Amino acid sequence: MPTWSKQLPAKEKHMGFDIIRTPQCRPIQATITCEDLLVCDTHFWGGRTIPCERKHEELDGTLSAGDCSACRQSVPFRTHVYISAIDCKTKDHFIFECTAYAAKPLAEYRKATGTLRGCVLHARRPKGLPNSRVVIETNTANLSKMTLANPPNLKLALTTIWRLPLDGMASEDQRDRDSRFVPQKEPLNRMRNQPDNQPDPPTIGEVISGNHKKKPAVEIA
Ligand SMILES: [Zn+2]
Repeated sequence: MPTWSKQLPAKEKHMGFDIIRTPQCRPIQATITCEDLLVCDTHFWGGRTIPCERKHEELDGTLSAGDCSACRQSVPFRTHVYISAIDCKTKDHFIFECTAYAAKPLAEYRKATGTLRGCVLHARRPKGLPNSRVVIETNTANLSKMTLANPPNLKLALTTIWRLPLDGMASEDQRDRDSRFVPQKEPLNRMRNQPDNQPDPPTIGEVISGNHKKKPAVEIA
């Protein structure tokens, strides 16, 4: 006899979070799950985005390239802002990335209310062009009528996405570390030096879906 059930099968294990940037022609509407912004300078180098590791210790305004290979080669950096949010339509929990300039309304919302959690973010590119300016508007979700998922550990999720070794991370930043995740053992410098400008290898999900042969997406700020 069949085994009937009223329950959908349990979701496949979480494959990690995607970084989403505001698309060219479609707005993003999402409810923010994290409390605060996470700001990080990044380089676009070797065909992919990597975090900048220059030293911030100098309080007199000068910065030292330190261990950052990209800075030592005078590769320019950009400041990016990251938050976790749930798409209002698809219900996907993702990491939203934008420039520091675009994130100003988010910083103002955080300052006014004390938290970004429950803020509804509406991001769009009014000109509809790739790399054109992103405009963000904010609103407040009625959290009494919805259950908002807990935010991911953003630093851990980004470190995983950037395929950096987790060994150097502070232990408190490794909250929620998934024991099934196997960190890259390759030295960081070698991972970054992709002289033939190869794109990132396809993800497991892309290989399974057959999408790994398509052209790499254009890097959109
Ligand atoms: Zn750097």
